[in-house]
Amino acid sequence: RDEQPLAQRYGAASVPRLPRRPADAYKNQFGHVLVVGGDRGFGGAAMMAAESAARTGAGLVSLATRPEHLPAALTRCPEVMARPVISGQELEPLLDSPSVVAVGPGLGREPWGEQLLARAARADVPVVLDADALNILAGGRVLAGHRRDDWVLTPHVGEAARLLGWETNEVLADPRTAAQAIQQKFSGVVILKGAGTLIAHEGGVDLINSGNPGMASGGMGDLLTGIVAALIGQHMPLPKAARLAVWLHGEAGNRAAADGQRGLLATDLLPWVRKLVD
Ligand code: AMP
Ligand code: MG
Repeated sequence: RDEQPLAQRYGAASVPRLPRRPADAYKNQFGHVLVVGGDRGFGGAAMMAAESAARTGAGLVSLATRPEHLPAALTRCPEVMARPVISGQELEPLLDSPSVVAVGPGLGREPWGEQLLARAARADVPVVLDADALNILAGGRVLAGHRRDDWVLTPHVGEAARLLGWETNEVLADPRTAAQAIQQKFSGVVILKGAGTLIAHEGGVDLINSGNPGMASGGMGDLLTGIVAALIGQHMPLPKAARLAVWLHGEAGNRAAADGQRGLLATDLLPWVRKLVD
């Protein structure tokens, strides 16, 4: 049973869509995503999450990152408002304006990342947690016992194992139970990523099957983080935003992989995210 593909083990869930934009739309209607991350050596991850939020239709995108990443961030995507942060305290005022916060891509596990996470995860708006934000959370020193109904955790199998204190093999053997266990421990919505992604929420567990092995490369998860955040900013309820995000991400990966799975880059997906989101 455990060797069957997930689709045969669990039925796949339906995928919601965003409504059309009204002719008189203005940017404030589509959310302001703040991405927090990119410690020294990991600037690209946070930049990719921010660009992916912009390509998913976020009205505004800000990026709080290490000052040394600003020139690259502004060059790559000038639409993103890149802000330098050297301490958690400097993040504080930046948390006033966004309608959703995504923290974790390239965050690292140093005190810089811990301080930023401790503040970002207490924002008054929904929060998406990924990558090292999950690893820090799993460590238990920061945000001990913290639960939120309005956060989305996006672990891959390794991060899921750390969040639960399980072996990776145990997560792989029963991903559905693992996703539910994380949801019960932390509340909110859990996106357990892999070849077949499970979304655990208060109402149950959904499976979305999209994507391909070409997506097993660095940066892919960072894109998903930006997509989820952008959809939440566009007023989708969290479990719906998770379903659409996972489908969009995987389908963009499939379209981009028409040119080959090997060598597929995360940023190759961005034009497809844009084409598929409307
Ligand atoms: P991360 O490990 O955080 O970079 O996330 C990788 C992303 O790519 C997740 O959304 C996975 O679901 C997706 N992905 C990786 N490998 C595969 C695969 N073999 N099939 C489908 N999706 C995949
Ligand atoms: Mg990741």
